[in-house]
Amino acid sequence: MDTSWGIAVIGSGPAGFYVTGELFRQQSWEIKVDMFDRLPTPFGLVRGGVAPDHQKIKSVTKIYNRIAENPNFRFFGNVEFGSDLYQSDLLKHYDAVIYSVGSSSDRALGIPGEDLEGSHSATEFVGWYNGHPDFREYKFDLSVKNAFVIGMGNVALDVARILAKSPEELAATDITDYALEALRKSQIENIWLVGRRGPLQAAFTPVEVREFLELNDADVMLEGGSLELDEESQKILETEASKDTKKNIEILTQISLKKLSRKKKRVHFLFLASPLEISGDGKVEKISMVLNQLVKQDDGSLRPQATENKIEEDAGLIFRSIGYLGKPLADLPFDQKSGTIPNESGQVKDPENGNSLRNREYVAGWIKRGPSGVIGTNKQDAVETVHRMLETFLAEKMEAGQNVVLPDIVSLLESRKVDYVSFADWKLLDAHETEAGEAQGRPRLKLTSNTEMLKIIHQKR
Ligand SMILES: Cc1cc2nc3c(=O)[nH]c(=O)nc-3n(C[C@H](O)[C@H](O)[C@H](O)COP(=O)(O)OP(=O)(O)OC[C@H]3O[C@@H](n4cnc5c(N)ncnc54)[C@H](O)[C@@H]3O)c2cc1C
Repeated sequence: MDTSWGIAVIGSGPAGFYVTGELFRQQSWEIKVDMFDRLPTPFGLVRGGVAPDHQKIKSVTKIYNRIAENPNFRFFGNVEFGSDLYQSDLLKHYDAVIYSVGSSSDRALGIPGEDLEGSHSATEFVGWYNGHPDFREYKFDLSVKNAFVIGMGNVALDVARILAKSPEELAATDITDYALEALRKSQIENIWLVGRRGPLQAAFTPVEVREFLELNDADVMLEGGSLELDEESQKILETEASKDTKKNIEILTQISLKKLSRKKKRVHFLFLASPLEISGDGKVEKISMVLNQLVKQDDGSLRPQATENKIEEDAGLIFRSIGYLGKPLADLPFDQKSGTIPNESGQVKDPENGNSLRNREYVAGWIKRGPSGVIGTNKQDAVETVHRMLETFLAEKMEAGQNVVLPDIVSLLESRKVDYVSFADWKLLDAHETEAGEAQGRPRLKLTSNTEMLKIIHQKR
């Protein structure tokens, strides 16, 4: 093979690894991948999002480790696009760039009182218990009795479950020590999950909701008693509902029938309610909500519509979990509404420039399609991006037959004094964390500050 192309991948989450894997599968040309991440640790939300009590899901990193073993792969952790490296640098050093930076911001509720102390985003809480360096200093007042999680997706359920589990159930996981300690002292008795739509429209998956039937320390109940679907939802359930939706309804029925057994905590599922206002004297004390009904739209879909009925509950903590949003990247177009980089099948396009397509820039994962789907969804998505890239840019380059040797990025990083971390460095840190965990019968003890991580890496190198 006499042609070889250099591709920069920005972000080392599932999308970054799946595009890399797909690039390495190409037989017609040799492709070299340099992957960058702003953190010293790879794997994005698999490390910093997936719940600590879902270790099996994290074993997907075995696939990523195999991809990283390819001799044409290099990892540069602790290198941030937008402060250590810019688009112009990447275009000078690589044939093409794939941005797979995920969606690290979240949607606001847009209601009064949202900024009161005690009102947080799920992103902050998840990042905190998972040891994401950006969130380690956050404080959550777990001495209150009532916590509300607004949203009914899997992330909302993760947050509710972590609040509901006993310290013993969490102690065998890789939850951070400081979070375990704080949760050990938690006084929370009621955890509410609030969804604006009905049970049939809930975004969670059966595996996630089933876990609420088996918590050591928490009862679970459906607010309103028995599970009743409106006529239209019932019709959908009987005709076009997916297997997962049917399973969800079965599990929610079990929840509604389950006897309460006076456990320490209680999880309340409240469907068809939307928060109106959060109030309190300097901090969260109450939440008022309006009850909704589902109304059939012209296109046949069911949408929640507010009724006259309102409720108010005591609340000490509120977590909003109504969706993640991407953040704009320097020198790249951005769609504020969807929080994504505009693209056509993964090829970046400039809406402000007549939707012209950028020939050397591509996107994959959540920043491409928005925050939906499970880890595996990013694989197909990555394949689409890589194929688009091969069909357009690389095919053109191949035909032109030019293979200009581009300067190596290492000298640029060194000239900018960037303390970058290689994949071998990460392996040292990984071994350090897992050894520390083994001693306590836990999968790993995470380091949570970049400084600590870099210190260990420098010591072990
Ligand atoms: C709380 C939570 C729990 C989840 N649990 C599950 C689950 O149990 N099972 C499941 O299948 N899916 C789960 N998901 C979904 C899954 O995590 C996502 O589908 C997947 O991580 C998206 O991959 P990504 O690569 O697009 O983004 P990410 O995983 O977010 O990766 C993006 C990477 O880019 C890096 N980055 C960001 N900005 C920059 C920059 N400027 N410069 C350099 N690097 C940058 C980040 O540090 C990160 O490593 C969960 C999601 C969340 C939020």
